[in-house]
Amino acid sequence: MGIGFGLAAVIFLAVAGYDVIPLIFLAGAGAALYFIVRSRGVVAKNFNEGKTVGRQEAAFTDIGGQTAAIKELQEALDFIKNHSDIQKLGIRPLKGILLTGPPGTGKTLLAKAAAGYTDSAFVTASGSEFIEMYAGVGAQRVRKLFQAARETSLKMGKNNSIIFIDEIEILGGKRGQTSSHLEYDQTLNELLVQMDGIRVDDKVRVLLIAATNRVDMLDPALLRPGRFDRQVKVELPDREGRLEILRLHTRNKPLDDDVNLDSLARETFGFSGAHLESLANEAAILAMRESLTLVYHRHFHEAVDKVMMGERLDRRPSPADLNRVAIHEAGHAFMSEELRMGSVSTLTITPRGQTLGYMRQTPEDDTYLYTRDYLENQIAVMLAGALAEEMMLGGRSTGAGNDYLQATKTADQIINSGMSELGVVDPETLPRSFRYRTQKKILQCQEERVQIFLEMRKCQLSQVADLLLEQEKITGTQLRKIMGTLTA
Ligand code: ATP
Repeated sequence: MGIGFGLAAVIFLAVAGYDVIPLIFLAGAGAALYFIVRSRGVVAKNFNEGKTVGRQEAAFTDIGGQTAAIKELQEALDFIKNHSDIQKLGIRPLKGILLTGPPGTGKTLLAKAAAGYTDSAFVTASGSEFIEMYAGVGAQRVRKLFQAARETSLKMGKNNSIIFIDEIEILGGKRGQTSSHLEYDQTLNELLVQMDGIRVDDKVRVLLIAATNRVDMLDPALLRPGRFDRQVKVELPDREGRLEILRLHTRNKPLDDDVNLDSLARETFGFSGAHLESLANEAAILAMRESLTLVYHRHFHEAVDKVMMGERLDRRPSPADLNRVAIHEAGHAFMSEELRMGSVSTLTITPRGQTLGYMRQTPEDDTYLYTRDYLENQIAVMLAGALAEEMMLGGRSTGAGNDYLQATKTADQIINSGMSELGVVDPETLPRSFRYRTQKKILQCQEERVQIFLEMRKCQLSQVADLLLEQEKITGTQLRKIMGTLTA
């Protein structure tokens, strides 16, 4: 109505011969001011609303494979739970806990569980929400966040409040390093001021929990004692951890007796909790697509491929390309079996994500340290695809580009860790020509080894490629039967 009346008045004045241009400018400036104030208000409102998390939403028992991190975090949280004891001893309150680790390992879950454990109000924000073009906006948002934490807690009748900031590196990066550094610096300064303002005798005890994948980017001022007093490492889960997480995420799913979570945990080295949650979910979706009431092991097996490689593509390569891919993957698989019997889990020429086919290995065990032999074997497996193509089809293709990249990186790993003929080197100052020559020697040596082996297996390799073309996917057991390493 207001806009309508305004417009009518402007038209009336214009017709009556008045100069209405200043009026139009004034109205435009007023509207711009209104929208700026409104956009600031929205963020403040989001923080004010806060988000509470009770035990029913997240508890430490819902987090798998993070025993050490949970123990460390609980120890820190006990300072808040036993607040009167720490006050008697004159201990200053814990102000911040920093959770560091790769994405999807459960940092947000840990923060939520911490709120449940300490019976706190829970207010959350992401580092990116604080960064704006305008100087002072970020700092204002930090103030609002701490204020919201206190208000939410009082509203809920609680004495504790946990603020969780995800991606803290965005707002807590080293000062003076970004182009619009004034705004970044002001925001971080405000965070430091707010942390310093946390006192043991406050009506509401505030604890800041932050998460990051890039602790190296944080400003040292944040990491000094009295700010983030505790750093808790949240690592990728080991085999036992993966099994625990799989159990947690299959609790609510009807599983057939053939589902072997133990073997899935073995196959999923490098998976985070988020990957494993997605794996369980995808397996259930596959069962639903087949209108089944139970989830079978094969669904989980296929879901591993999906989580690792991406969704199946409808794109169908030409018969000649399919034949090449089958030979390429068979080459990888033969070399892998030769070097470690039983290492191949699946072999497929189904296009997924960025790949036209792939060979999946079953990791022997979680491995964190690699010897030169191990790395050279890895290179041999990587090169075997292209060399099989060359042997059977008389030339290589662009499909091996990524294999070469991985093989070169692995050769670099040998050089950088002092296991090459160059001995111990400083990777920073090693001349490029030295590195290139040594890389080449390592790769050539493995190429020769693979060529000799594949020549001996030419006939079986073509058999496996034919079976792959026929079935699109073969198991490690089928492969071993053809190779003659498995009887019956
Ligand atoms: P990011 O660093 O990307 O923010 P994050 O470490 O905070 O990730 P979360 O958001 O806590 O990871 O995890 C995402 C989802 O993955 C969770 O909701 C949960 O379903 C699952 N998940 C991750 N880690 C675990 C775990 N240790 N136990 C059980 N589930 C987990």
